[in-house]
Amino acid sequence: MLKEYRIALRNSGLINPESIEEFISADGYQALRKALKSEPLGIYEEIYDSGLRGRGGAGFPTGAKEKAAAVICSDCEKYVICNADEGEPGTFKDRIIMETDPHTLIEGMVIAAYSVNAHRGFVYIRGEYKLSIQRVQLAIEQAYKHGFLGKNILGSGFDFDLEIRRGAGSYLCGEELTLIESVEGKRGYPRIKPPYPAEHGLWGAPTLINNVETLANFPSIILNGAKWYRSIGTENSPGTKIFTISGDVNKPGYYEFPFGMTLKELVFDVAGGIKDGKGFGAALLGGAAGTFASKKHLDVQMGYDKLKEVGLTLGSGAIIVFDDTRNLNDTMLNILKFFKHESCGKCIPCRVGTSQLYNHLVNEINKNHFNPSNIYPELIRQADIIAKTSLCPLGQSPILPLRSLWQNILESNSAKH
Ligand code: SF4
Repeated sequence: MLKEYRIALRNSGLINPESIEEFISADGYQALRKALKSEPLGIYEEIYDSGLRGRGGAGFPTGAKEKAAAVICSDCEKYVICNADEGEPGTFKDRIIMETDPHTLIEGMVIAAYSVNAHRGFVYIRGEYKLSIQRVQLAIEQAYKHGFLGKNILGSGFDFDLEIRRGAGSYLCGEELTLIESVEGKRGYPRIKPPYPAEHGLWGAPTLINNVETLANFPSIILNGAKWYRSIGTENSPGTKIFTISGDVNKPGYYEFPFGMTLKELVFDVAGGIKDGKGFGAALLGGAAGTFASKKHLDVQMGYDKLKEVGLTLGSGAIIVFDDTRNLNDTMLNILKFFKHESCGKCIPCRVGTSQLYNHLVNEINKNHFNPSNIYPELIRQADIIAKTSLCPLGQSPILPLRSLWQNILESNSAKH
C-alpha cells in the first residue's frame, strides 16, 4: 500500500477536533504567529511562490488571487470568504477537513485575511453538513477565547472577525460570485464576470475567496516555506491533493497524495481495485461537471496540466469508479438530470438547453434499439452551444462529461459493433 503524504489532512484522525489544546500541541497556530511577525507582502508572495492552486475545481493560482485582493487598495473594507459549499457529487474532502481539523481551516483563513488586510470573514458551509457547521462553530468560539480571532490577534494589532453562513442546498452557490450573492442574503443567482471578487466582491468590496482544502494548505506553507511545498508533487502541480474515491472499488474513501500519482495507482493500489473481481470500466473525474477517463488513461499522472493534455479535468479531486458492467448511458442521464434540476433559469440557453439534453437522451434510451452514435454527436453539438452562450459554469459544464464519455468510451465501443 502506498503511503499517504498529508498536508491539508495533517491532523485528521490524530487529534480531537473539538479540542483547541490538542490542536495547539500539534503546532497549531504556529504558522499564524509566524505570519503576524512578517509583512503581508511576504505572506502572499510565499503562497504565490509555493505554486498552490485552488483546490475547489478551477485550479487558479492562489497567490495571484491573494495579490489581486491585497494590492487593489490598502485601507479599504475587504473580506475573506471560505467556500465550503461542497456540492459536486462524489466530493467530500472539505467535509473531512472541517469535521476532523477545523482549526487548520481557521488558521489558514486568518493568515489569508492578514495577507490582504481584511478584517471580516465568512465560512460558507453547505447546510446539509451539520457536523461541519457544529465543529467549525465550536472552533471559532475557542479561537476567540484564545486570542486567535477578534481584536489585536496575539498582540499584533491585527483584528479579524469570523462567522459561519449556511448554504441552503443550491449547487450553484458553490460558484464564487453566486456564493457571494447568497452571503449578502440574496437568492443564489450568478453575477456576470468580470468584475472578479478581488475587485468587486461581497457588498462591492474586494473579497478573497478560497476553498477549504486550499486554505488548509496555508499553515504548512507558511511554516515550512514555498521551497518545501514545491519539492512535493510535480513542477506544474506542486503539493498534495485529497482524492475522494467512490463507486465500484474495494476501499472507497479519502486519501491525500502528492500530485503525480497515476489513476491506476489510486484505483488499484490505494482504493484496493475493482469490487467483485470485475474489470475497470471508467472513472468520472471531478464529479458531474467532470470528465470520463477510460482504461487508456490509467497511466496518466494526476495533475492539472497532465490531465488537461489528454482532455481530462481534475476538478475537486473526486474519482467515481465504474466497473466494466455498468451502463454509462444511465450515468449520463443522471448527470443531465442533475444539471437540469440545478439550472437556476436565469439565462435561456441553459434553462431550455439542459432540459432538452436530458429529454433527448431519455427519449433515445427508451427506444428499442438504443444506439449511442445516433444521439451523442447531436447532444455534444447542443451542449457546445449551451456552453458558449451561458452565463455561469453550470451551463458550461454538461459538454465535459458528454464529450469525454463519447470520445473516450462510447465511440470506440460503437465502432466495435
Ligand atoms: S448558466 Fe444556467 S445556472 Fe448559470 S446563470 Fe445561466 S441559467 Fe443559471
